Parts: sequence; C-alpha cells; structure tokens
Amino acid sequence: MRDPRFDILFEPVRIGPVTSRNRFFQVPHCNGMGHRDPTAHAFMRGVKAEGGWAVVCTEEVEIHHTTDVSPYVEGRIWDDADIPAHAHLVEKVHEHGSLAGIELVHSGMNASNLWVRRPPLGPAHLPTRSTDPVQARRMDARDIADLRRWHRQAVARSLRAGYDLVYVYAGHGLTTIQHFLSRHTNNRTDAYGGSLENRARLLREILLETLEEVDGAAAVACRICVDELVGKAGLERAEIEEVLGLVGELPDLWDFMVGEWDFDSITSRFAGEGAQEEYVRGLKQLTTKPVVGVGRFTSPDTMVRMIRDGVIDMIGAARPSIADPFLPVKIEEGRLEDIRECIGCNICVTGDHLATPIRCTQNPSMGEEWRRGWHPERIRPKTTDARVLVVGAGPAGLEAAMSLGRRGYEVVLAEATDELGGRVLGEARLPGLAAWIRVVDYRRGQLERLRNVELAFGSRLTAEEILSYDFDHVALATGSRWRADGVGRRHMRPLELAVTEILTPDDLLAGRRPAGRRVVLFDDDHYYMGGVLAELLVGEGHDVTLVTPEPRVSEWTVNTMEQHRIQRRLLELGVETLTSHALVGAEGGSVRAACVYTERERELPCDALVLVTARLPQDALADDLSAALEGREGPTVRLVGDAWSPGTIAAAVWEGRRYAEELDEPPSDDDEPPFRREVVALAPLDPA
Ligand code: ADP
Ligand code: SF4
Repeated sequence: MRDPRFDILFEPVRIGPVTSRNRFFQVPHCNGMGHRDPTAHAFMRGVKAEGGWAVVCTEEVEIHHTTDVSPYVEGRIWDDADIPAHAHLVEKVHEHGSLAGIELVHSGMNASNLWVRRPPLGPAHLPTRSTDPVQARRMDARDIADLRRWHRQAVARSLRAGYDLVYVYAGHGLTTIQHFLSRHTNNRTDAYGGSLENRARLLREILLETLEEVDGAAAVACRICVDELVGKAGLERAEIEEVLGLVGELPDLWDFMVGEWDFDSITSRFAGEGAQEEYVRGLKQLTTKPVVGVGRFTSPDTMVRMIRDGVIDMIGAARPSIADPFLPVKIEEGRLEDIRECIGCNICVTGDHLATPIRCTQNPSMGEEWRRGWHPERIRPKTTDARVLVVGAGPAGLEAAMSLGRRGYEVVLAEATDELGGRVLGEARLPGLAAWIRVVDYRRGQLERLRNVELAFGSRLTAEEILSYDFDHVALATGSRWRADGVGRRHMRPLELAVTEILTPDDLLAGRRPAGRRVVLFDDDHYYMGGVLAELLVGEGHDVTLVTPEPRVSEWTVNTMEQHRIQRRLLELGVETLTSHALVGAEGGSVRAACVYTERERELPCDALVLVTARLPQDALADDLSAALEGREGPTVRLVGDAWSPGTIAAAVWEGRRYAEELDEPPSDDDEPPFRREVVALAPLDPA
C-alpha cells in the first residue's frame, strides 16, 4: 500500500493536449543502441513504461542527414525509412499506458558529420566541439530556412510514428538552437545575433512551427540549458529569465537542465542527489506550464519536497530509471525497500561514449531486455530442484544468489568474512564513493527476504569442504587481487622492484598505510582506482606523485564524464602528476619513470610505491575442485565475476545474473551468439 505522503507523486499532470498519469518522467537519455539496435531500444523503453514512468522519451534523435553525430549511435528520423523503428518504440511504451516522447535534435557544430561528409552548420565559423579537423560553417538565411523546414518535417514524421510529445531541444550545449541562443557560440550581427531577443529568434520560430505542425495532436516540450556554467561568457540565469519572458508560454512543458551532460549527469563522486536544485529553483514561477527537472532522484521524500517546494512539477530521471525501471511502481505499491538506487557511477554513460549498448551497475538487465529476454524484476522459475552453493559475497556472488533465490532454488551463499559486499565494502569507503554501497544494500535487503537463500558468514571454504556438502552446482565468486609486480598494460613481465615498501589497492583497502611520507603511485589501470587512492593518501598527509603512461590521470573516466573533475581535484589537493611516464624500476629509496615517447628516465625519491596496474583472478578453488573431482561425479563448478575475469563491478553483477539465468540450461553454444541481434536488410547488389 502506498504511503499517503507520496500521493502527490501520482497525481496526473496535464501537458498541453495530453495527460501524464503521474509525475514520473523519464527524460531523454542516450543508450548506445539508437538507430543500430532499434528493437532492443524499443523493449528497453517499454520496460520503463511498465515500471510506471508515465512519460518515456527517446534519446536525442537526429532530424536530418546533415546532423550526424557518428561514431555515437543516437536516434535518427532522417526520412520516412526511420519511422517504423520509432513506431515500434511508441508501441512498446503505449502498451503500458505511458506517453512516448521524442527529443528532436539538430546538433550543428556539435556534430562532425563524419558519416555524411557535409560541413556541419552553426551560428558562426567555428571548429566543432571534438578535436576532429572539422569546422562548422556559418549559416546564412537559406540554411536557417532549411533547418526550420527540416525540423518541421521531423515533427511530422514523429506524429506519424505515434509520439505524444515532441521536443524542441536547446540543452547540453548539443544543439543548434542553443548555439544560436548563447553568446558563447553566437557572434552574429544579423537578426539572429546580438540581443537576446535576436539570439532567441530561432528558438521562438521553431517552437511556433512545431506547435503549428503538431496542431494539438501531441504536446510540445522544450528542453533548455538554464545556465551554461561559464558565467557571463554564455547563458546564465538572468538571460534564461528573459527567455522565459519571451517564450515561456509557448511550449506545453519546460524541461530545465544545467551545464552540459557532465553536470546534468554528474557522478556521485562529485555531487549528491538534487544537485541542480539551486539553478532551477524559481524558474517554474516564470511560466504557467509544467516543469520537469532531474537530480538523480531516488528518494521519494526528496521528490515530494521538490514538488511541494514548487521547484518542479514532474520528477525527471534518466539514471534512476535505468538503475530501477520500476521505481514508480515500487513507490506506488509501498515497496520502498525494493528500490534499486542508482549509485551515480556513470557506467551507463560509457555505453553512449563507446557506441555499445547501455549497461548499468545496479541493473544488469539494462540493454538485455530484448537481446537476452532479461527483466529487471522478473526471472523465470527454476526448472529443477537443484541445490546451489555460491562462494563469495561480492557483487557477483550477491547477484547470483539473489537471482537464483528468486528463481526458487535452494541456495547457500558462503562468505569468508563476516560481511556481505566483497570489493564494494572497501571501495565504498574511499573518498567520494560512499553511494556505491547501494550495490550491497539493495541485494542484502532482497536476500534477507528470500527464505530459500541461506547466508553463511565466516566460511572460507576449501574444495574438500565444498565437496563434503551435497550441492548440485557451485558458483565460485571469489574475486580477484591486485598485482604487486608491476604487470599491467605497459609491462607484460614483472618489474624488478627493490623499493622499501610496495602496496597494492588491496593493502590500502584493508587499512594498511605507507610508513613514510613520500608515495609514488603508478596507475596503469586508468579507471577510478589510481586517482581515488591518490586522493585518499594526499588527504591523509602523504606527498603523492601519480605516474601514468597516459596523457591524463584516470584516462578512462572520460567515458564516465569525470576525468576533468578528477584531474582538477588531484591538482587542487596537491597531488603531483607525472603523465606520459611509465614506472620502469625501483631501487632503495627511489623509483625510475621513463617518458613513454623518448624513454628518457627520471628518478623519483619515495618511501613507498603503490601499484595500481592489473588484477589476478582468485581461482585456485576451481583448480582444487577440478583435481578433487577427477574421475568422480560431483557438482558443476563455474567461476563467476572477477574470479573468472577481473572487471568492473557492473561486469561482476552482470556475470552473477547470467549465472543464475543459465543455471540448468543446456550448455550455451558458443558457436552461435547467445543473444538476439538485428542484422541490416541487404540492398540488392544491382544498384539499379
Ligand atoms: P566479485 O567482484 O567477482 O563479486 P569480490 O572480490 O567483490 O568479487 O568478492 C569476492 C568475495 O569472495 C569476497 O567477499 C571474499 O571474502 C570472498 N571469498 C574469497 N574466497 C572465498 C572462499 N574460499 N570462501 C568463501 N568466500 C570467499
Ligand atoms: Fe546509476 Fe551507475 Fe546504473 Fe548509471 S550505471 S544508472 S550511474 S547505477
């Protein structure tokens, strides 16, 4: 039963000609599937609608072939050929009584048009935002007329696909409409440049034309950046207030966002829930139209406060809806303890950045709804009465035990220590990573209510013990250990390291600290661990030099949109950084690092060396079991998660789910892909 204090979240909201059945609004978000994987995309959105999101939107959808953001895979509605894929998505969303929204985009100078080979268009002659050797061409009157016509045609196609809501998009620094609106990018002196009224002309024209084109058949939303966070150089609050004075009553709904995507989806390492509130507060009062806004909202109390305080009318969410597509239904049914809270890690964003289907640390079914038929809440019942032992309660073991428990199997989850969580327990205690403990909290809560799953703590199992019990299947989720020999990406063989003290992330996570003050940290891993440990150690009074072969610290975190924040934080905290250098040796009180280009060496005096390079699976139990089982019947044994192959927490969770999904299945035939995919329809070889 729903708690009456959350009733307000379930009030319907009128959005122009349509009505949203509650206040939960899945704002547009990228997913790395887009036009390449249309059916997988449609099913993913359908699951959101099933989970109670009353409005479910696409990602940005290119309106015309001259706005091409490849290599990123977004939506396309270039011509009528794209309509069926959208109709598919709309159908899946409508199946569950939700409204389907489409975010139309003309990316302009944000796209390099690498695929279509046409110069991008923008308000000024300026390079595109990437480092591609491409410049946007300053649009003349004819280009502007073309753009307006293309937008209108895309609106017409959106209606034919069945969308209930169509976006005019001026946010994230990603769209031509915003590039015109902002003095940051608009230096024109014609009727589209100079005064705010002139810069807002394109926005106004496109809003009016979109309204005319939909003609009451769909609502018109406007997503706008309310502060570009570059001070007077760009859009800021005062100008947005003026914009609302000019066009505030035109769209049927306002979707306010702040900064670029890296701020809109800021990681939990750098901001908590509701980070946009201070920027958005007060703007709603400048329009009579409903307002949606985001803030990685996972707490129903915060959501209620946002509405009662008049900050927003609808709870916008991308990441909370990815981590838990059933968040609204769970609040409605009074099942708050079942909410799978987003941890703010941005693994979901990496799918977009790397043009691969979206995945999520908390929700392993994300992106697999159609491919593998996984569902965030349901899993098919067991097919046998097999008993399963899961060894190790890190993310892989927790997910495996939980999912097997849901299938109805008798499960024992044995953990060597006295706590659930494995690597996440230690990592969530590192600076800025506290929210990651939600990976454990959610699964602990679920396991406690599964009567068929028994938790055995303080059980460091050996092969003999395992075989002395009567299990049909054994999953070994025993994790991995960081290496202490320097092997990683740079060095394939152990280094000679005769240094005073060597520490690994495992040592630091276990509470050990360098005895001396001066620490060199060699990061050849490039995700968060090296940077976060440097932050930890400098915070505890050590002098830290971070050495990395990459040109930037924590290089891979460009994909989680944190790299610039991490580098800035480390520099501000006084961490010395030595980039483009690799550790090559260590003797006594110093280490040697060589430039990766010139091989010129430098000596760095230090008391301790921290190695963040690579990990080794903890898979000895598998070998012991296989030796003990030689020539006799016994349980099936499978390594799962980091014990199989060290990777991200997201990968370990996914592996745990896969183990549970495939238990009692015939062995998957690796000769064929074990998932669905769409293969493009071939054109005839004869071009005529
Ligand atoms: P993953 O990321 O794959 O889930 P973790 O390293 O987070 O792996 O977790 C592995 C867990 O397995 C740890 O909690 C560890 O204490 C536990 N473990 C390792 N070896 C054994 C064992 N022999 N018996 C029981 N638990 C074990
Ligand atoms: Fe949240 Fe991380 Fe999942 Fe993205 S991947 S939705 S940030 S938990």
